[in-house]
Amino acid sequence: MTHPDVLIVGGGLHGLSAALHLARAGARVQVLERRFVGRHASGASAAGVRTLGRNPLELPLSVIAMQMWHEIAALVGDDCGFAAHGQLRVFSTDAQAARERARLAALQAAGHDTETLIDQQQLRALVPGINPRFIGACHAPRDGAADPHRTLIAFRAAAEAAGVHLREGAGVQSLTREGGHWRAETGAGTVRAATIINAAGAWGARVADLVGETIPLSAKASMMMVTERIEAVIRPVVSIVGRSLSFKQSSQGTLVLGGGIQGRYDLDREETLLDFRALAAGAAAACELMPAVGGARITRCWSGLEGKTADLLPVIGPSTLAEGMYHVFGFSGHGFQLVPAAGAAVAEMVGTGRVPATLTPFSAARFNSRDVAA
Ligand SMILES: Cc1cc2nc3c(=O)[nH]c(=O)nc-3n(C[C@H](O)[C@H](O)[C@H](O)COP(=O)(O)OP(=O)(O)OC[C@H]3O[C@@H](n4cnc5c(N)ncnc54)[C@H](O)[C@@H]3O)c2cc1C
Repeated sequence: MTHPDVLIVGGGLHGLSAALHLARAGARVQVLERRFVGRHASGASAAGVRTLGRNPLELPLSVIAMQMWHEIAALVGDDCGFAAHGQLRVFSTDAQAARERARLAALQAAGHDTETLIDQQQLRALVPGINPRFIGACHAPRDGAADPHRTLIAFRAAAEAAGVHLREGAGVQSLTREGGHWRAETGAGTVRAATIINAAGAWGARVADLVGETIPLSAKASMMMVTERIEAVIRPVVSIVGRSLSFKQSSQGTLVLGGGIQGRYDLDREETLLDFRALAAGAAAACELMPAVGGARITRCWSGLEGKTADLLPVIGPSTLAEGMYHVFGFSGHGFQLVPAAGAAVAEMVGTGRVPATLTPFSAARFNSRDVAA
């Protein structure tokens, strides 16, 4: 397709979701992916589906996304491995408990009932093997986790079935305005489109730079560990207040450990490097949480590259500079859950020319008007 209505730069989950919703709304959509679909953050994701502990500015979109996850098969024809076993954010001190209580009170005052506070007895009923030093938790019972690869396969298949043209190995190298249209050079050909969506993940600021727009963005290289299969020990996803740990057990019995433990990255080479000291600290935190898993062997580790903004909120909205260009990147390590709703909101924004209320906190203009710099 050389003349789509909408050209999407980046074949991660956010590019695919926007493509799917736009195509179902009647647009002719082309996705250009530099490597292959899911090569970066979306293929490395822990796939936690979490409203728990989110920035309140993200919650309106996140709540819509959560409902969509509960009905995800209706959207993409597969349940994406989503299981709503809940998520827990556990704490071990009275001071942490007081801070969490205050956070939940503020959430409730703002009309959000996604989380409740549970005591140690309730926590131990949900996670029988938990270390008794943890005295309570915030609990989001409708949260859960999905399978990132099934999710990628399902969104890709649904998008292609809706008519989206997907081209891999086609990196966008330049974007120029030509007679009211955009002209994209890919090295594998030229594409012209009225509308561009920049869904280039950690490289989102570089794509913005192609049209002369500066958006401050840094990056992160979150790492993951998976153990051998062990007996069933836990159903909810558990994180610890003040620590970089998320702990869950897959349906196959492996423990999947992550939570933002950072490795190193090189954006030019599109590579990440594992930091085994940091991984060891993450593994130690997992053993502290659930002492019985101490003997489990770690079989695989990896990391993925993701764009990170200074306020840890994504950039979603029209370019502040270039007509007909929209940004959807910088999910700062927690964009998987937002995928179905962000794509729908982006399609609405492109279709109507108006920014839906759920997206207004994510404007690229906030970097000009506030003291926010990456
Ligand atoms: C290890 C890890 C664990 C995570 N765990 C969770 C979690 O539990 N819950 C959660 O909600 N989120 C989680 N996240 C975050 C989540 O996975 C991401 O926010 C989400 O996948 C971002 O999707 P994306 O489409 O924006 O980016 P990506 O998937 O990175 O896609 C961007 C794509 O753009 C392509 N691209 C870049 N430049 C160009 C160009 N010039 N031309 C063409 N293509 C280009 C890249 O090759 C890439 O494939 C995690 C992330 C990581 C790395």
